[in-house]
Amino acid sequence: SSCSSGYYRVLIIGANGVGKTTLAKRFMTSEYMSSFEIGNDDDDDKMLSVLVDDEESTMEFIDHSEHEEDLDRFPVDAYIVAFSVHDSDSFEVAKQYLQNIRFELFSDRPIILVANKVDLVRKRQISTEEARQIAKDYDCKYIETSAALNHKVDELLVGLLKQIKLKLNPE
Ligand code: GDP
Repeated sequence: SSCSSGYYRVLIIGANGVGKTTLAKRFMTSEYMSSFEIGNDDDDDKMLSVLVDDEESTMEFIDHSEHEEDLDRFPVDAYIVAFSVHDSDSFEVAKQYLQNIRFELFSDRPIILVANKVDLVRKRQISTEEARQIAKDYDCKYIETSAALNHKVDELLVGLLKQIKLKLNPE
């Protein structure tokens, strides 16, 4: 039997066009998802119940596309900072977000740096090594995904939940 354990809010941030909306949609159809609701107002907030290791958690995904200047308006449990590997500008934007979260908000919440669109192999501009180093510098987890191909999206979802729980209940 499963038990309900927590309610977590996750902010998804990154430059326009990196695949934030596509990732959030993929979460909704993940095999770990047990139910979901999409808010009936005009915003993009999405709620999702996830069943991992017999524990059900509710996650709310907030797509925060435009207003990078007021990140602190959104108290959250974790961040997904996404960029596209074929767009070096989007990597610069992601770095700026990492900087803001760690050194302006002084937040030590879990961050997963997501390198999306790894299916665009020949157009790739940002290497794994380069992105991994930045993740390390800012104490983030790092994962490479293709939202388009649904590659590693479940791993991202489960990894995110794991990081949130680790932070709340350190061993
Ligand atoms: P957002 O602005 O960050 O929400 O980006 P969207 O989710 O709207 O995606 C922008 C465009 O990139 C859309 O045309 C998506 O279909 C496409 N896209 C999203 N993820 C991927 C991916 O992993 N690979 C490829 N090739 N295209 C993607």
